[in-house]
Amino acid sequence: MDSLLCAVTVLKILVINTGSSSIKYQLLDMKEQQVLVSGLAEKIGETTSILTHKKILANKKNRTKIKEERICNHRDGLIQITGLLVDPEYGAIRDKSEISAIGHRIVHGGEAFISPTIITEKVIEAIKKNIPLAPLHNSPNLTGIEVAMSIFPNSRHAAVFDTAFHQTIPPKAFLYALPYDLYKKERIRRYGFHGTSHSYVAERCADYLNRPLKELNLITIHLGNGASIAAVKNGECIDTSMGMTPLAGLVMGTRCGDLDPAIPLFLADHLKMSLKEIDRLLNKESGLKGICGANDMREVIEKKNKGDNLAKTAMEIYCYRIKKYIGAYFAVLGDLDALIFTAGIGENAPDIRKGCCSGLIRLGIEIDNTKNYQPGKGLREISPSAGEVKVLIIPTNEELQIALETRKVTACWSKGSGFAENPNL
Ligand code: AMP
Repeated sequence: MDSLLCAVTVLKILVINTGSSSIKYQLLDMKEQQVLVSGLAEKIGETTSILTHKKILANKKNRTKIKEERICNHRDGLIQITGLLVDPEYGAIRDKSEISAIGHRIVHGGEAFISPTIITEKVIEAIKKNIPLAPLHNSPNLTGIEVAMSIFPNSRHAAVFDTAFHQTIPPKAFLYALPYDLYKKERIRRYGFHGTSHSYVAERCADYLNRPLKELNLITIHLGNGASIAAVKNGECIDTSMGMTPLAGLVMGTRCGDLDPAIPLFLADHLKMSLKEIDRLLNKESGLKGICGANDMREVIEKKNKGDNLAKTAMEIYCYRIKKYIGAYFAVLGDLDALIFTAGIGENAPDIRKGCCSGLIRLGIEIDNTKNYQPGKGLREISPSAGEVKVLIIPTNEELQIALETRKVTACWSKGSGFAENPNL
């Protein structure tokens, strides 16, 4: 079947991101690439759960419904969400059969998944095999798949992995200098995360520069609550800062990022901390919060502006770490077309962008102060017109990217066609 013809049939896509006690969702119209409804079911399984549902209207007068009643489990949650999707007042479709495809965000694809894929029994098995690599994420992600497949048996289901974009990273960048058997037997290696965001902004950059992505060398910097940076050579990721887990790399809201690996040993040996306590310290009590007591960058900036020295130090450490990675990735890329800032902090914090790029003019990286501080939305160029490297702010849109990937992979697939079969499975 002609692929264009198939693509036209995939009109409405539901994107689902299932956490251990939550379901985040968006229903998108793919013809206009517009969000029709979005929402979040939280505290699933607790005495009182919260379902916040928003119908997006063209005049921006969105219609919001908040339900505060118990949602026993994910199945119950998705049934309630489906009820709102078809609700005459808050919904956007008449019948659930209008949803042609469902895109599932899956955190860990391990080495099995180098691209988004149609969900089959084999795929479910492979995602299960990756549970040990991301137990907090892959298990609920699988629950989401099971529940959605039972509620939407006639829709096509696709899995889009946070790790897939980074599967082009070569062994010299993904192997740790540990006994090789730990890689072969336990799959300990760098995987990288936020792949959906890095790939989305890389593609938008290519559109903006009107050049094929495969000709571009980019550094993409995702600075949200979690943060990571990726080196993209000829359109393919060749290195990234997160590692086997999302704890590595940049300083984050509450995560420490790169650390001397002997420090956890010291904490255990000297302070007699348990593994659980160390895990909590590194993941929840470190990063910006660990240094200055605030994990939200807006709060850190406010504290710094009021003269708080630790907040100032936290921002300096934050930018310094990013700058070191920019230098390293420039070195491995050899040449750079564009540097891209994205996500909450990357899109909204000019002081941070300035801090990361100051003193890099010898690398061709420069920021125009006026453009950097000009408030704005959408894709913006903040390098001087004559700058060698384009410095861009590109708002990320992971849900849209999941929907686009889902459309691509589901458009021409039919059961038994073998289309999109993953050769690694
Ligand atoms: P995200 O995970 O992409 O939603 O990003 C969350 C982070 O973005 C938080 O640290 C917020 O403080 C930060 N953020 C959002 N808006 C701003 C802003 N106007 N200035 C500085 N940081 C911001």
